[in-house]
Amino acid sequence: MVVIGGGATGAGVLRDLAMRGLTATLMERGDFTSGTSGRYHGLLHSGARYVESDPLSARHCIEENAVLRRIAPGTIEATGGYFVATPDDPDDYLDRFPAACAAAGIDAEPVALDELFRAEPLLNRGIRAAYRVQDASLEPWELVDATLASALEHGATAHRYRPVIGIERGPAGEIRAVRTRDARSGEEATVACRAIVSASGAWAGQVAALAGATLHMSPGKGSMLVFNRRLTSAVVNRLAPPGDGDILVPVHTVCILGTTDITVEDPDDARVTADEVRALLAEGDRLVPGMSGARVLRAYAGSRPLYDAAELDGRAQHDDSREISRAHHVIDHGARDGVGGLWSIVGGKLTTYRLMARDTVDAVAQSLGNKKPCRTADEVLPVPAGSRAYWLGDRLAAVEADGGGDADLVCECELVTRARLTHALDERSDSSLDDLRRTTRLGMGPCQGAFCIPRATATLDARRADGRLDDAAPDANDALRAFAAERFRGTRPIAWGDQLTELWLSAGIFRGTLAADALPPSAGRDDATR
Ligand SMILES: Cc1cc2nc3c(=O)[nH]c(=O)nc-3n(C[C@H](O)[C@H](O)[C@H](O)COP(=O)(O)OP(=O)(O)OC[C@H]3O[C@@H](n4cnc5c(N)ncnc54)[C@H](O)[C@@H]3O)c2cc1C
Repeated sequence: MVVIGGGATGAGVLRDLAMRGLTATLMERGDFTSGTSGRYHGLLHSGARYVESDPLSARHCIEENAVLRRIAPGTIEATGGYFVATPDDPDDYLDRFPAACAAAGIDAEPVALDELFRAEPLLNRGIRAAYRVQDASLEPWELVDATLASALEHGATAHRYRPVIGIERGPAGEIRAVRTRDARSGEEATVACRAIVSASGAWAGQVAALAGATLHMSPGKGSMLVFNRRLTSAVVNRLAPPGDGDILVPVHTVCILGTTDITVEDPDDARVTADEVRALLAEGDRLVPGMSGARVLRAYAGSRPLYDAAELDGRAQHDDSREISRAHHVIDHGARDGVGGLWSIVGGKLTTYRLMARDTVDAVAQSLGNKKPCRTADEVLPVPAGSRAYWLGDRLAAVEADGGGDADLVCECELVTRARLTHALDERSDSSLDDLRRTTRLGMGPCQGAFCIPRATATLDARRADGRLDDAAPDANDALRAFAAERFRGTRPIAWGDQLTELWLSAGIFRGTLAADALPPSAGRDDATR
């Protein structure tokens, strides 16, 4: 089996296949979790957001919420969540909400307003009603790493920077092999297989086309803003039908306001526009008055892997991506397009990734005559090396234990020690600085890499010099430039106030002190690898 896509869904599918004894390998075109899974809002849904608009998705979310707390507790911070009715939210929605939650099996407990404001003093004092739900903050990089680690323990393999560029079929149209290209060396290879699961998210239409199948995806771009601190301790949702800027999620030391939802043609179109930023801040002010004046660290966007199932039964497609169900669909392209052995898994949420994998592998295993049951909800995921069960302050405690102020910090904002960085490089010695960011949170704090990235670059270069860096890793100059360009992409839409001052300083470091623009390109690498 070949699994295409190394986000949460692909990792989940790989694990499930391997646990049922099927030989499987995964191909990811970039780093693991570099697609939508690494660019999402960070919320382990209770399902309450969808109780009215999407009850099936709501039920899936609450069921999987409980499963993930059991099998992956170290990737979840149990912040809890509130649904709050601001003066701008509709009365009739508030009236229907408790019954809709009960119908979906979601506990929504009314909270007295004085209790709410004691717990969350920055919330809008005009809030009229509040309910407590089982929302939480979910770390995607560790979840995917842990899922892949489990898959590998069960005998699977997984490759990053290995885009699938072609799919070969036999005389009866059946799947025979995938063609891949190493994104760094350019080397091509053919991998024979009996079947393919495309877990390529918003890109599933492009992957299906490689096999001659048709799949029309409706990628929904969502933009989010990262604030430099937690404005609330729990997740806070508006008590209204899903809309822009209506959820605030505390994640590690920051909080994230989102999202917008705009149908885009190209899932790689992740630009955040000034209009989106303005809309998010205006809505944010309704939850936390004055939020639009708080310090924003960066803006980013991801593409929802939405599939409009209206296509399946010939109904008119939805114009607005908010109207498309968040439930998932397993598509058998053998039955649909005559491409035997190709399956696509589309739609869904990160919260439901394990269920999506189970439903897919149930279908695939049945077609292969494999009768083993799914066990992914029974076995706890391994804790990825270098990480621990998460709690706010965890890193500070570790640094203090390691000598406090004298600890060897590479990144002061996110408290990344040199030992943590070295460990990450020992684990994956072909890492770029952006890969290290996903593993360690390097460069994700207020300075957005201005101070830590030059230090981390020096570490990469020293390892290259003493032969401890994989040849595939970008060289120091390229890594530095690529990281600065990626960070700048996210700080550009929010360049005002304190963050503009910070940007000015970081431009001085990168362009002035380090002359990053003038560093020579590394020998033997073309521009595409940078
Ligand atoms: C703005 C936004 C906010 C969200 N917030 C939440 C939330 O708070 N909670 C929640 O539960 N869900 C949320 N979601 C939904 C959730 O993020 C997605 O449903 C989930 O991450 C999709 O995971 P995936 O593995 O299916 O897709 P992805 O993570 O996108 O993985 C697909 C992978 O396929 C790879 N790929 C594509 N083409 C190829 C190829 N040819 N060869 C090899 N690899 C390829 C891509 O690089 C990508 O890594 C949000 C989504 C968005 C956009």
